[in-house]
Amino acid sequence: MTQQHPARTEGRNQRSRQAVVRLLRERGTLSRAEIARAVGLSPSTVSTLVAALVADGTVLERPEALTPAGGRAGRPGTAVMLNPAGGEAIGVDFGYRHVHVVIADVTHAVQIARSAPLPADYDASLGLDTAAELVRSAVRDAGTDPARILGVGVSLPGAYNPHTALPNSGLPSRWSGIPVAAELSRRLELPVLADNDANLGALAERQWGAGTGFDELVYIKLHSTVGAAFISNGRLTRGAAGGAGEIGHLVMDANGPLCRCGNRGCLESYVGLPQLMRALEPGYGDRITLRDVITKAWQGDRGCIRALSEAGKTAGRAVGMLSTVLNPAAVVIGGALAQAGELLLGPLRESAQAAGLPPAGTSLRILPAALGDQACALGAVALVLGQAGQTPMPTVV
Ligand SMILES: [Zn+2]
Repeated sequence: MTQQHPARTEGRNQRSRQAVVRLLRERGTLSRAEIARAVGLSPSTVSTLVAALVADGTVLERPEALTPAGGRAGRPGTAVMLNPAGGEAIGVDFGYRHVHVVIADVTHAVQIARSAPLPADYDASLGLDTAAELVRSAVRDAGTDPARILGVGVSLPGAYNPHTALPNSGLPSRWSGIPVAAELSRRLELPVLADNDANLGALAERQWGAGTGFDELVYIKLHSTVGAAFISNGRLTRGAAGGAGEIGHLVMDANGPLCRCGNRGCLESYVGLPQLMRALEPGYGDRITLRDVITKAWQGDRGCIRALSEAGKTAGRAVGMLSTVLNPAAVVIGGALAQAGELLLGPLRESAQAAGLPPAGTSLRILPAALGDQACALGAVALVLGQAGQTPMPTVV
């Protein structure tokens, strides 16, 4: 009798287990015999693996799936499927200088959160390699069973076309033409879905944050770039090519500063984080951070109060215009700038009221986001859970 090395046997069992789970994730409900054929293992090995998966709750038995009503009469054995009540989803949020990873369960409880810095203007392959390594270490450190991972959601800083599964090339970007989801999926051997950061922030805030209960919702991300997402009739509206919500390039002043998009006076030129910080440099130096600005403003620094208030007023004019067009019930303001709270939101509300037509202007609720800097990563989790049928999510149209 040949003696197998225990560690080697254990490794092979783990790989077989993952192969079975991956197959069920892709094909839904299957019989043990179908699994055995598809993964090339003996029926007895598959029976042992499935028994262990049923015992730990990863997989459920579905006797009714093999009844004549299911159109599968005559095949012996009980079908199995992944347990919809279990599993973890991974959210990956690519920022301009970092990547953030969370692992959350189906109730969105975050089990682990990790960030890694990236250089300014990093290229896609460095971003993807860093993200893949961060995901692997987070999975290891959280003790997550890889077989229970439902999938990975990715938040991208910029428009994403769901039809081509490519970032939009409307603006110069290191992500243009890169099949981000496929590339990360290849690195991690897990299913990966992607979307832009504003859409995912909106998804998370509506699912679990300040936008809960609003079917007509606008989410605005005031961050390094400025974007919005529109939820109408409970559905995320993405436009013909995924480009809806690029409000950072609404022209607020045709004679304003030149923008990277080629226009002048775009909203982003006034309220984008880099532009806002650059405007403060002459008075405060180039080491000042947004957190410093907010702290100084609360302490009464007139320059910092003015900078945040003007950003709020300009963003408010855009919110007023959007509310005239879309008549949302609520606008949720997220992104780093929202950390300024009422210093920004007060002037924003005032100018939104002034710029919007009643009743859109008067009935509008403008709320601070509730999920902070985790919003986009949690939205990426919501994307995966929605796809896995774990949680109702705004339908993507
Ligand atoms: Zn622009």
